[in-house]
Amino acid sequence: MSAGEYIESLRRLGPRTVYLFGERVENPVDHPLIRPSVNACAMTYRLAELPQYQDLMTATSALTGRRINRFVHLHQSADDLVRKVKMQRLLGQMTGTCFQRCVGLDALNAVWSTTYEIDQKYGTDYHARFRQYVLEWEEKDWTVDGAMTDPKGDRSRSPSAQSDPDLYVHVVERRPDGIVVRGAKMHQTGILNSHQILVMPTAAMRPEEGDYAVCFAVPADDPSLIYIYGRQSSDTRKLEKSPVDVGNVHYGGQEGIVIFNDTFVPWERVFMCGETEFAGMLVERFAAYHRQSYGGCKVGNGDVLIGAAAAIAEYQGIASASHIREKLTEMVHLNETLYACGIACSAQGAPTAAGNYLVDVLLANICKHNVTRFPYEIARLAQDIAGGLLGTMPSEADFASPEVGPWCRKFLAAAGPHPPEHRQRMLRLIEAMTMGALAVGYLVESMHGAGSPQTQRIVIQRQADLEAKKALARRLCGIEPDDLVPKE
Ligand code: SF4
Ligand code: FE
Repeated sequence: MSAGEYIESLRRLGPRTVYLFGERVENPVDHPLIRPSVNACAMTYRLAELPQYQDLMTATSALTGRRINRFVHLHQSADDLVRKVKMQRLLGQMTGTCFQRCVGLDALNAVWSTTYEIDQKYGTDYHARFRQYVLEWEEKDWTVDGAMTDPKGDRSRSPSAQSDPDLYVHVVERRPDGIVVRGAKMHQTGILNSHQILVMPTAAMRPEEGDYAVCFAVPADDPSLIYIYGRQSSDTRKLEKSPVDVGNVHYGGQEGIVIFNDTFVPWERVFMCGETEFAGMLVERFAAYHRQSYGGCKVGNGDVLIGAAAAIAEYQGIASASHIREKLTEMVHLNETLYACGIACSAQGAPTAAGNYLVDVLLANICKHNVTRFPYEIARLAQDIAGGLLGTMPSEADFASPEVGPWCRKFLAAAGPHPPEHRQRMLRLIEAMTMGALAVGYLVESMHGAGSPQTQRIVIQRQADLEAKKALARRLCGIEPDDLVPKE
């Protein structure tokens, strides 16, 4: 699809029950608070139209041999994984926010390999069903919401021990033609900008938790679904019709809750149902892909913020100060370290039994763990360079006012040839990315998206192989024999 066709395709979805600020939204696509997030997701289609980005934005389908958008591609090599990260950095640069489509791509690749392995063990036909689904997904160039995170209720209790069983998505009825599911998924990135929802379990499940080990797909306009839009700091600035004060004029992120209010799913769209020991595998793979993703998108966002910090330093006449140059260097160092991790876990990727490529899981977790820290330091340095006006600047309306506008421009003048408006716009962008609506994408999402820091530490601990490292030390200090000592 072209970007225009994508936006039109969202308008053509059937009526959806969407709530924002306690009110029903009939046309989410054109709602001023939602539209910037549509524009960001549309960028994944827009760049694929441009010849100079074909290499990153498109790929050759492993199923049909046709040219497809890389966001619907089963990774066929480590090079595909590297290109994915480069594509995400590019999109992060072009939007300055979360462009939302990676959750579907990551779910696609995780479900592909997991269904294959379930079938190997149980003789089920989940993989063949999923293959059919993927063919349609590629053909229609869908944006698919990969939905993982459940509300989880009391974190100290397992899904089956919750006082309310709906706190984890579960099967409430098995019928000859399909299943009925109930529950909710939280923090769903791009949920209203998706054509389909691909639901996965949120955690490893115990043998008695078969009803919770469920993976399925439903159309986003299924009438049983209820959506509640998540708000972001300073989000109502988008309603003020002030392009300056929003900071990022056209683009934004989107998260919401989706409720499955007894949703019927036909068997051909069910890709796991009761195979509890595979829930953990699916979670680990989806998480690994998505932790890789952050080594691309957040780096692209970081590029924007570093650029904004360098520009505001210029507008305020401090660009040549040595401490400013030092801070910018530090920001670049941190940002490129994240990129190095994203590239490394991709380059070390390996094929799964199903044939598509999986990232190096340990390195992907290292990548995301650094992402839970470095963007905060980059944001701190950007605020340091920006100065106090970041928190005290008058509104765009004051700048436009015939009474106080001239005073604003006189006293908020910029250095050199730069007009005060450029200073104003750049400060608003830094504000939006470090504490406004875009900080949800650049900071909170960096902390918690694709799993909070502790979830990465658990994987790192599991994969660290301390026994092998202890053996290295024992050999070198002479506790164990060393057969490799050079002999004369
Ligand atoms: Fe993609 Fe990044 Fe948004 Fe996740 S946070 S959907 S990886 S842009
Ligand atoms: Fe995310």
